[in-house]
Amino acid sequence: MPSKYPPPRAIIIGGSMSGLFSAAFLRQIGWQVDVYERSPVELVGRGAGITTHPELLETLEKSGASTRDLGVEVEKRITLDRRGRVIAEKHLPQILTSWDRLQRLMRATIDEARYHLGHTFERVEQDGSGVLVHFTGGKRERADLLIGGDGIRSSVRKQVAPAVQPIYSGYYIWRGAPKEADLAPETRASIFPYFTFFLPERQQVIGYPIAGLNNDLRLGHRRYNFIWYRVGDAQELRRMCVDERGHQHDYSVPPPLIRKDLITQMRRQAQEIMPPQFLDCLANMQPFFTPIYDFSTPQLVFGRVALVGDAASSARPHMGFGMAKAGGDAQALAAALASHDAIDAGLAAYNRSRQPIGEAIVLHGRKLGTHLGVNLRTDEERAMWKLLQDHRAMMDWIAVPNFLAAYQ
Ligand SMILES: Cc1cc2nc3c(=O)[nH]c(=O)nc-3n(C[C@H](O)[C@H](O)[C@H](O)COP(=O)(O)OP(=O)(O)OC[C@H]3O[C@@H](n4cnc5c(N)ncnc54)[C@H](O)[C@@H]3O)c2cc1C
Repeated sequence: MPSKYPPPRAIIIGGSMSGLFSAAFLRQIGWQVDVYERSPVELVGRGAGITTHPELLETLEKSGASTRDLGVEVEKRITLDRRGRVIAEKHLPQILTSWDRLQRLMRATIDEARYHLGHTFERVEQDGSGVLVHFTGGKRERADLLIGGDGIRSSVRKQVAPAVQPIYSGYYIWRGAPKEADLAPETRASIFPYFTFFLPERQQVIGYPIAGLNNDLRLGHRRYNFIWYRVGDAQELRRMCVDERGHQHDYSVPPPLIRKDLITQMRRQAQEIMPPQFLDCLANMQPFFTPIYDFSTPQLVFGRVALVGDAASSARPHMGFGMAKAGGDAQALAAALASHDAIDAGLAAYNRSRQPIGEAIVLHGRKLGTHLGVNLRTDEERAMWKLLQDHRAMMDWIAVPNFLAAYQ
């Protein structure tokens, strides 16, 4: 018999992964959902590579997204020395994909009429039993619940927990994704099929294959995800955030505006330390940099406002687990709401189940980040740093599946 009450309604801010996961799982439990994304055009991810985990594959399938042709499968990890020779290897099958591929898969799960581009969240009012959400330009929407899936710099979180701020790790990465076809035959043969490490002191260079443009998985049409971790304090980062036109940015610089002198200097430093295969990658890509931040919140729920994904907590990317966490948060939120009659009781259960997990992931990321030797304060951190100076340990710890089991 149809219910005489209308279904509960959620407004979701952010049309990326956690927003789309939340929409999919809430719809499954009978909620009406609308996603509001500030970008006026469909989202694109600058070719960023993504390592996958069993938890991510499971949430994708449960959310209704396909996992067919998800990405490129590698069989093993290798570590190179400065001359490009393999000094260690580890058998570890893993699927590597791209941000664009995952976003498009999830984007296909939502009804067009429920996905609203060009809507910027401004503020929320609460009256105890619902929310009134204000968007830039004057639009207002009422709902039973507001979900903040608006990323690490979340404006929803800024309103409900203004004291919580992302913390700079003391290091950043240079990254890019050269096309397979542009790489030298030796690079294609020796590193392209593998998850590859090169580990000079206080640095990490990591590479792995991902799909080409439009998820092209054909041989010769793929790309290689390149990441180079560099230590740099807050002052250095601030100088790097002055763009080609002299404008100071807060957190990072859009790739086309990164200063040419920075890129020249980075390439010169690479020449001094890197094996030929990674120099080949660098020579064939447009590099951009991303500073590494993390944070967790003591609370994910504030009245009728719930935070998910990177808005709720964001770890350093050493585990490659952000997408899986976004899916896990959304799934747990829907499960908690479905198993309680009262929305507030469901939200409290969500907070209890996911807040400690988000925090554990952030702490694990800091543990892996000790490899770079920044601000080592405790004996435990120094012991972890020492362990990770061995490249075999790095292959055992970085972006490996099932690391969360130790915390559950
Ligand atoms: C260098 C790097 C490497 C990574 N590697 C991996 C990896 O290998 N594997 C992995 O799983 N994860 C990885 N991650 C993490 C992953 O990218 C994130 O965890 C994931 O994108 C989080 O999704 P999200 O939807 O929570 O946030 P986001 O993807 O940041 O999306 C937030 C959305 O909210 C929108 N928005 C913001 N403010 C407003 C507003 N006021 N109104 C409306 N909309 C708004 C934004 O436009 C954006 O679309 C990596 C991250 C980094 C930085």
